[in-house]
Amino acid sequence: MQARRGHGRRRNGALRGGADGIMRAMSVHRPPRRPQLWLPLLIASQLLIVLVGWRFGWAIGLPLLLASHALCLWGVLAPASRLYGPVLTQLPGEGVWLTIDDGPSDDTRALLDLLDAHDAKATFFLVGERAAARPALVREIAARGHGIGNHSQTHPQAMFWALGPARMRCEILDGQRTLAGITGRAPVWFRSVVGHTNPFVHAPLREAGLARVGWNARGFDAVKADVDDVVARIDADLAPGAIVLLHEGATHGGNPAMVAGVLARLRAKGLRTVLPDPAG
Ligand SMILES: [Zn+2]
Repeated sequence: MQARRGHGRRRNGALRGGADGIMRAMSVHRPPRRPQLWLPLLIASQLLIVLVGWRFGWAIGLPLLLASHALCLWGVLAPASRLYGPVLTQLPGEGVWLTIDDGPSDDTRALLDLLDAHDAKATFFLVGERAAARPALVREIAARGHGIGNHSQTHPQAMFWALGPARMRCEILDGQRTLAGITGRAPVWFRSVVGHTNPFVHAPLREAGLARVGWNARGFDAVKADVDDVVARIDADLAPGAIVLLHEGATHGGNPAMVAGVLARLRAKGLRTVLPDPAG
């Protein structure tokens, strides 16, 4: 138990960076502590509903049953839901965290140049199998001072919400192994695919010392091709503490222009980018 705790502390970076680093790491980076708690709570809630239906009639019990199932589904589909485990959706302090999903891609090098030009840093949430196909690009992201997060091994976007425990564990831990194998450093942050987080996500996150990251600013840049519209949507939520969801490699080809637009808005507002502790 002692060894396991020590391992976790090294993983989440709480031993790096002096006292201030420890404080920030402890408050921001929160891997799940009780990833199986949902199961006894679910069983207890369903038993309670059966009791209510049996005692007071199913005119009350059935709506309660449906409402409980709707709540479970909301917990999976709502990106900011904490029903099954913690998620970071806001940073403390004045900085803005740029997060760029779905790479590496043909856009990555242009994005790195844009970030350098604005003296900005970002975390790239990479897909394991895409990283394995372009390891030099992954190492360049790290070498240029940016963070690398885990965004699953294969990015099964249509089915991620419904993956069972074995497949979910593979998606998360294979992604972790792939990225650590390329950079020599295991990611500490995880971004759910399409923001969907079912009950089986948090056990492997805990196993790998990963904390889940959501967002509080987005412009639907993965699907919308209108650069001005996307930037305006993100701009509306660009404020101290923002976690900005961006993408690369979208088929419309506009992601670099959108990131350029967001960087320009950050500069105009006097906001600076940060990477939270532990760096990632
Ligand atoms: Zn994605």
